[in-house]
Amino acid sequence: MIEAEGMSHMIHNKELFRQARAVREQFYGKAVFLRGLIELSSYCESNCFYCGLRKSNQHAARYRLTPEEIFSCCGQGYDSGIRTFVLQGGEDSYFNDDRMAKIVNEIRTRWPDCAITLSLGERSRASYQALFDAGADRYLLRHETANKAHYAKLHPSELCFDKRMECLHDLRDIGYQVGCGFLVGSPGQTQEHLEQELAFLRDFRPQMVGIGPFLPHKDTPFAHAPAGSLALTLEMLAKIRLLLPHANLPATTALGTLSENGRTIGLQAGANVLMPNLSPDRTKSKYQLYDNKLHESLQDLCEAVALAGYEVVIGRGDPYG
Ligand code: SAH
Ligand code: SF4
Repeated sequence: MIEAEGMSHMIHNKELFRQARAVREQFYGKAVFLRGLIELSSYCESNCFYCGLRKSNQHAARYRLTPEEIFSCCGQGYDSGIRTFVLQGGEDSYFNDDRMAKIVNEIRTRWPDCAITLSLGERSRASYQALFDAGADRYLLRHETANKAHYAKLHPSELCFDKRMECLHDLRDIGYQVGCGFLVGSPGQTQEHLEQELAFLRDFRPQMVGIGPFLPHKDTPFAHAPAGSLALTLEMLAKIRLLLPHANLPATTALGTLSENGRTIGLQAGANVLMPNLSPDRTKSKYQLYDNKLHESLQDLCEAVALAGYEVVIGRGDPYG
């Protein structure tokens, strides 16, 4: 009985993936967009329960990239065909508006044909505005869960769901292309929560959606919680593609960490974006959001694209329409 149910689930998902691919190919053809990830700081003043960079983790290795290191990552990325730079980091007040705006402005001036995406967590509206004015185009801030009570189980009390929503609305009002997203299989997540995720995305209509499996980190309160599943992550990717046909949808590093060919099957389930890591060798192993995080090269990712039957394109990869 259980086997028969499992089998029908697989057939159902095969059809779901086929439909998701058809929709993605209708708008993006076989194209896969690349985003070069530059992990600028592993310091974080926030304390999300799931994350290895959380402030209370005394064992985390901490570093900051210098502006010159950041520009050198951009230059190397540009030479290998990257036209979007994603500056990501913990919530680190060292990278205040003044320092960040200078960095963004320099990248904007030196690589005018590239998109600049920021992923620096919660900041004030004035800060988001200043960085937009300095030349940033896009902002990634996952909402992590669309259920307020569940949000309170994944975060300490000083972090609040309403504030996260306010940030997302501020970003959109200012004019950023906005990315949100959630953890698949985070501790306490239910089927009902997943339905809420899809309803939230349908209503908010972000231009980008970053989802990936929750993966435990040994020095966090969720060290012993089970990882999110591959099957569920793929199912969510496909459902998001059907819901938001134009969305830029990455097959994330967490998916690649969970399963060796995770990125390839993520692309085959509706994803159209990959994010090679451009961070320098000196910091590679120090940005540990979860245990065993992959540091995949551009070459590895190109192989994943070829295996999926798709093609890497050079360009900013703005959303269709
Ligand atoms: N500090 C910024 C950016 C870095 S964290 C921010 O929080 O937005 C980027 C993303 O990593 C988070 O949104 C979260 O969804 C993901 N992440 C953190 N810990 C994780 C874990 N244990 N498993 C999977 N993803 C995780
Ligand atoms: Fe900091 Fe982001 Fe990790 Fe939360 S998820 S602890 S904000 S790096």
